[in-house]
Amino acid sequence: MEIFNGSFTQQEPLSQEAIDAALRVLHSGRLHRYNVEEGDAGEVALLEIEFAERVASEFCLAVASGGYALATALRAVGVKPGQKVLTNAFTLAPVPGAIASINAVPVLVEVTENLTIDFDDLEAKAPQSDVLLLSHMRGHICDMEKLLKITNRHGIRVIEDCAHTMGAGWNKKPSGSYGIIGCFSTQTYKHINSGEGGLITTNDPQIMSKSIALSGSYMMFEKHLSAPAKAHFDGVKYETPNISGRMDQLRAAILRPQLKELDNQIARWNERYMIIESFLRRVEGLQIIERQTQENFVGSSFQFLLLNRSYAEIQSIVEGCKSRGVELKWFGQGEPIGFTSKYDSWKYIPSQKMTKSDRIINSILDMRLPLTFSPEDCKLIATIIGQEVERKTPLERNG
Ligand SMILES: *Cc1c(COP(=O)(O)O)cnc(C)c1O
Repeated sequence: MEIFNGSFTQQEPLSQEAIDAALRVLHSGRLHRYNVEEGDAGEVALLEIEFAERVASEFCLAVASGGYALATALRAVGVKPGQKVLTNAFTLAPVPGAIASINAVPVLVEVTENLTIDFDDLEAKAPQSDVLLLSHMRGHICDMEKLLKITNRHGIRVIEDCAHTMGAGWNKKPSGSYGIIGCFSTQTYKHINSGEGGLITTNDPQIMSKSIALSGSYMMFEKHLSAPAKAHFDGVKYETPNISGRMDQLRAAILRPQLKELDNQIARWNERYMIIESFLRRVEGLQIIERQTQENFVGSSFQFLLLNRSYAEIQSIVEGCKSRGVELKWFGQGEPIGFTSKYDSWKYIPSQKMTKSDRIINSILDMRLPLTFSPEDCKLIATIIGQEVERKTPLERNG
């Protein structure tokens, strides 16, 4: 029996260009974003300009993390303590965490077998809130035009959590540019890697001036180049609390070269994703997550469903794969471990019954596809999963 020896958590090294850029910042000693020499924009301000352009957005702010970006977005649109915020039930802890961090209350919306938000349930819960924090969880993107029809009809503003969709899009329009705000993460396991980091994009000058002030601008907002005109700060500069969460020059310096390479990296991710998908499509007893043709996704991770299986059966498939080096994350596991997390383990939010999502989330198997995996590695991983699933497939159809 083949065994896979690669590591699901090993990212590629940074390029020499990124390392050189980091060394320039370190030699300069000027690591704070506002500590720039006369005439020098600084790495952070340049990253913001380049990222805004990349996602076809008017303005961009770089911050300390993706989770910080989400909380800042919620504050910037004026979510108040006690206010309800809609969000999808299938997501990771930073999303309900951002809502809870400002003492707002998540209202969970069911998900479909495509792992995207359930429009019927959204429609039903729409009267409860005027903000939707939409998580494009694991890079699965719902029909954004249809979503905006629903949210516009109900006067709901959409904040997009694009932690898994940097570089992705719907119908050729960048993910993050559909809602009023896009929030991105540059944490190690996302699409560009600065260890920690986040980006906020919007076309709304009020939201951006408020976000900049919130992030801790020390009245240095004129050093921001991807920002609205000075006049937009008049109404916010004395009114907005400073909740420091800026990005530093070192991170920005290593992100800028990575941003230039993003399209190449996406092509490499999708090559790996398609190898696994086409292989697993032939395996009986598991369900592929279908993508719509308008979805311009980034296949940086892979999910499939083991629907209608018992807990013990799924557990045994997970263990079988693990013993052969393929570590699958199982969202239905009793205890959340590693990066998995299910809504019912977020005890800080009101308990909610998600009947439809339970069936789906409990059957999700998930793995990252770091670019250190070769196409050959992906074939091997898919072979192992296929064998383990088929070995444990009830044989009734063979009769
Ligand atoms: C990673 C992630 C974030 C942002 O997290 P940080 O670790 O704070 O950068 C937000 N949403 C989802 C779904 C994520 O996986």
